[in-house]
Amino acid sequence: MTAVPVALIEVTDVRRTTPHMVRVTFAGAGLDDFPTWPDQQLKLLFPRPGRRAPRLPDAADGDAMSWYQAFLALPDDERPWMRSYTVRSYDPDRHRITVDFVLHGTPATAGPATRWAASATVGDLLARYGPAAEYAQPLPLDRADWLLLAGDATALPAIGSLVEALPAGTRALACVEVAGPADEQRFTTRAELTVRWVHADGRHDALPAAVRALTFPPGQVFAWLAGEAGAVRALRRHLVDERGIDKGRIDFSGYWRRTLTQDDAPTEEDLAEAQERLAAARPPQD
Ligand SMILES: Cc1cc2nc3c(=O)[nH]c(=O)nc-3n(C[C@H](O)[C@H](O)[C@H](O)COP(=O)(O)OP(=O)(O)OC[C@H]3O[C@@H](n4cnc5c(N)ncnc54)[C@H](O)[C@@H]3O)c2cc1C
Repeated sequence: MTAVPVALIEVTDVRRTTPHMVRVTFAGAGLDDFPTWPDQQLKLLFPRPGRRAPRLPDAADGDAMSWYQAFLALPDDERPWMRSYTVRSYDPDRHRITVDFVLHGTPATAGPATRWAASATVGDLLARYGPAAEYAQPLPLDRADWLLLAGDATALPAIGSLVEALPAGTRALACVEVAGPADEQRFTTRAELTVRWVHADGRHDALPAAVRALTFPPGQVFAWLAGEAGAVRALRRHLVDERGIDKGRIDFSGYWRRTLTQDDAPTEEDLAEAQERLAAARPPQD
């Protein structure tokens, strides 16, 4: 690893955990001494057709900004697709990471990351950018009586890693939208965790509707929200406007956009929310 956290990673195992989730295990440079924390985000770089490995810029010795400039300067048809994912787990003995990929859409509508995951095989190569410790956002457990974790299937890896790391006695309520019963997962945790599974059944508002219908436990909540950007927006609005929760008590992130790919530019709403996320990241005033 250099100052820029970029490295090739090689698939060592592929397993379909549920109908719409594939778990891919990777080995690679830098995984022998890998820093870990829950909800660990990284970028994955997917090769363009005809390439075995993603083409990477030569600027690995520079800083992150010059690496990114060099990345953008690669020819369009060679520049890897870059997508955000979550480290589901790290195996410190075998120096491997696993990433859970949601299989959404059809081969015609799915994006390049999902197409890759649907046909991933041992020996395939990707690159990773990150994770970077400065983006770690520990849950403020000392300032909350209970946690609300709400998200769709793309948030399952983060929710799984978060609940597995919770200390004994923490009260948490997870509300997770998946396609159907066969896509539900089991978590191992020391926390007092209740999980409400929501089956999308093709509806776009299933998750906000389910959270709206919840009876919240008493006490101060800290809410962690992730998933489709419109649903996350609706959830946040509900928590702030209808439940009276302070914005500083909500960590929210639009993981994907219903009509846009991750290559598309941010919308005005995305930019405004990015500003709000920065503001909401400040410690809440009790
Ligand atoms: C911080 C962060 C962490 C994330 N962690 C994970 C993770 O661990 N596992 C995971 O699977 N995803 C995760 N995601 C979401 C993932 O990055 C997006 O779903 C991404 O768009 C997938 O790329 P793609 O190439 O398949 O689709 P894109 O090329 O980005 O989009 C193609 C089309 O697919 C649609 N689309 C994208 N995602 C979905 C979806 N989930 N369901 C239905 N339609 C979709 C888009 O609207 C678009 O029309 C994370 C996102 C963020 C920001």
